[in-house]
Amino acid sequence: MKDKFFSENWAEATAKFDKLATQDFCRRKWFDGDGMRDTYSVPLCQVGYGPHKIVINSGIHGIEGYFGSAAQILFLDKFVDMFLGAKLSSKYTINLIHVINGWGMDHRMREVMDGEHGGLVDLNRNFGVDFSRPNTLPQNPEYMLAHDLLLSKPDAIHKKNAIKEFRKKHLSDGVWAAISNGQYHEPYGLFYGGAREMSENKIALQIYDYIMTPDAQSLVSIGLHTGLGRFNRKTGNATSEILVSHPVAHASSQYFKNVFGSSVPVVCDERAVHGPVLQGDLVDCLESRYKSRDIPIFTADLEIGTGEYPIMSPIYKRMDMGDARYDLLHFGKISPQTFKNLTESWYPSHPAWRKSAMASADLLFKTLIEYMANNR
Ligand SMILES: [Zn+2]
Repeated sequence: MKDKFFSENWAEATAKFDKLATQDFCRRKWFDGDGMRDTYSVPLCQVGYGPHKIVINSGIHGIEGYFGSAAQILFLDKFVDMFLGAKLSSKYTINLIHVINGWGMDHRMREVMDGEHGGLVDLNRNFGVDFSRPNTLPQNPEYMLAHDLLLSKPDAIHKKNAIKEFRKKHLSDGVWAAISNGQYHEPYGLFYGGAREMSENKIALQIYDYIMTPDAQSLVSIGLHTGLGRFNRKTGNATSEILVSHPVAHASSQYFKNVFGSSVPVVCDERAVHGPVLQGDLVDCLESRYKSRDIPIFTADLEIGTGEYPIMSPIYKRMDMGDARYDLLHFGKISPQTFKNLTESWYPSHPAWRKSAMASADLLFKTLIEYMANNR
């Protein structure tokens, strides 16, 4: 029997979303980018007419879109009535952007393949980057220290232990943390930001521009993500946190703590004191894109984890990403074992994970609507 919320491919997820996105009181519009053949269309669903814009996006990392889609379907199924019943639609507009990276979803990858330049592009390292002068792209020499190890031959025991050792050695010198910051040097490396603006990124920003009508008085944008590592069946729970890419003293951090502080843990990033930590990420791009509007802009990501956090999960996660690249570079396709590992790292099949991930989404939406009702 098909699950009501979760899906097994992009088409199934999109059909479920679209069915609910066209119900009464919802407005659905498709965005197609610049007509590229390999681009998956992205639907936007809007509820309400208010000048305060709430945006929930999913699938910027393809495989993470399975949870994101399920959460958005839950919203349409259960929370539209609550939103309308609380008479919030003249102050707020809810905007659901469904699965920005459909290709990655179908291929169980976070990234999208760049058919023109080659490589696997992490769309969340591609926003707002100036690709016109390649020699001015951000450098990440720390990443290069890990590159060969991460892309080495899959080996569940030795490779895992080698990455574990690498982490231990480089935990305090900043190298381990820098791996995920984004790099523009190795197209098949991890967290590669690309060689040009990807069409998925253009579509996403086009949708945000459409949402941000001239009368917009504020923007709250939350990205739905998963993947803090493989699911631990013994633990049996999904972890859940709101990641704000700013130090705790920043207005964005304070906003999310104020809204979600008592229901979902809000994690801030003290490394971002002097500027963005991640290169080319959506949240920083949105903040600078609408800066001249001089309105409040609050951005964050909801990250649903998969257990064993914080030590083993990031190790597995990086290993699984490296294994996928090894397979692609050596055999032209991902092996069944790597495919399974990727899935368990970002979209665990275990019913306990899916159930608790949905409970987190439920709590997120409930808390958000309660906050809006108290700030009518
Ligand atoms: Zn993600």
